[in-house]
Amino acid sequence: MLVATSVALSGQPPQFSNAVRNFITIDASVVALTNVRVIDGTGAPPRERQTIVLRDGLIADIGDAARVKAPDGATVVDLTGKSVIPGLVMVHEHLYYPTGPGVYGQLGESFARLYLAGGVTTMRTGGNTNGVMDINLKQQIDAGQRAGPTIDATAPYLNGPNTQLQMHALKDADDARRQVAYWAEMGATSFKAYMQITRAELGAAIEEAHKRSLKVTGHLCSVTYAAAADLGIDNLEHGFMASTDFVADKQPDVCPGQAVGQRTIDALDENGAPFKALVKKLIDKHVALTSTMTVFETFAPGRPTSPGLDVLLPELKQQFEQAHARAGQNQQSIYKTLLPKGMALERAFAKAGGMLIAGTDPTGSGGVIPGYSNQREIELLVEAGFTPLEAISIGTLNGAKYLGRDARIGTIAAGKQADLVVVNGDPSKTVADVRNVETVFKRGVGFDPAKLIASVSGRVGLW
Ligand SMILES: [Zn+2]
Repeated sequence: MLVATSVALSGQPPQFSNAVRNFITIDASVVALTNVRVIDGTGAPPRERQTIVLRDGLIADIGDAARVKAPDGATVVDLTGKSVIPGLVMVHEHLYYPTGPGVYGQLGESFARLYLAGGVTTMRTGGNTNGVMDINLKQQIDAGQRAGPTIDATAPYLNGPNTQLQMHALKDADDARRQVAYWAEMGATSFKAYMQITRAELGAAIEEAHKRSLKVTGHLCSVTYAAAADLGIDNLEHGFMASTDFVADKQPDVCPGQAVGQRTIDALDENGAPFKALVKKLIDKHVALTSTMTVFETFAPGRPTSPGLDVLLPELKQQFEQAHARAGQNQQSIYKTLLPKGMALERAFAKAGGMLIAGTDPTGSGGVIPGYSNQREIELLVEAGFTPLEAISIGTLNGAKYLGRDARIGTIAAGKQADLVVVNGDPSKTVADVRNVETVFKRGVGFDPAKLIASVSGRVGLW
């Protein structure tokens, strides 16, 4: 029998199971991090030689070493030469992975550990293909029974007729309402619409979710971004890569094919009036946009291979490497130009005042590895033209704002939850230093990424 749990409102972490304790290296009621460079997630310049006092899961104090001293009895960790950034808050994560043709393995156990190891302390899953796993995992992590980030758990996808084996097909708008009501009751805290949904179903789902103060995002195709914004959607996935707004003969409620939409995006001028009008619409309607460049990078020729592949089962690693080699040889691939175009469009959206948030989407051909890819997404935001400080802010504060939790998480400040990532180096100068994670503090408890990774290495794909 599982005990229902809820997140305690204090900063106090839960009692951890012995299995989780294996991954913990720092667990004291008072911890002082000294001589550390603080990148606080707001976009402000780094502050050198700071002391951060963590008490009962919260940041009790932070300031110059001259002012803030380690309290008596505190566990002191000297972080000279190292930086802290806020725990990552990423919003297009999944607990499943493409193991075979049209088949998704449910890898919640290993993925939750990898996400935490990569510095993700809060994540939203962006659609589930498993029913209750996202919800159960969220509750067990909150209760300290498993290691992982705090999860905003999505319900199974809301989609129209489709050929996926692990996806329900909505019958009509009433069915959409029933699904939202049922999964909200089951504990889902957000919803994801998918490529074949109709406007009527999407509108009904949004209305039903909003009644419960829950949000709806979408990887759309059958419904344009502009139409979804008018229906009140909160978030759109994959930047502009899933927009069919510019398909000339687009039929209402019909997906013309993702590739057809992407050809129009590839040809879109980020300074042109049609794109600017869509951006204005999304901003006016407060629709956030999720960047998931990590998954598109795996399709593009001439790109480096993905970080973290060694955690995969050898068969799955080989499967991705073959797919990546094929992608690399395809010089006709649209992604050669679409990847940089997608970046330029996201940058233009953010520059115009749009809310850009970040995620990774561990699907595609299997090269998006949780944790590793969250770090990669920060690097790709820098490639898109953001400064490292801006990219870190998108991956932390913006996600927290979208989830409505920025009063507690997403930045490093006194009174906030002690969700911090210690990295060796200075990612404000060399963004790749976000890969050098040494400790991940979640609610003041320090987890060892190396132990988390070692616990799944070579077996990701089984569980
Ligand atoms: Zn996805």
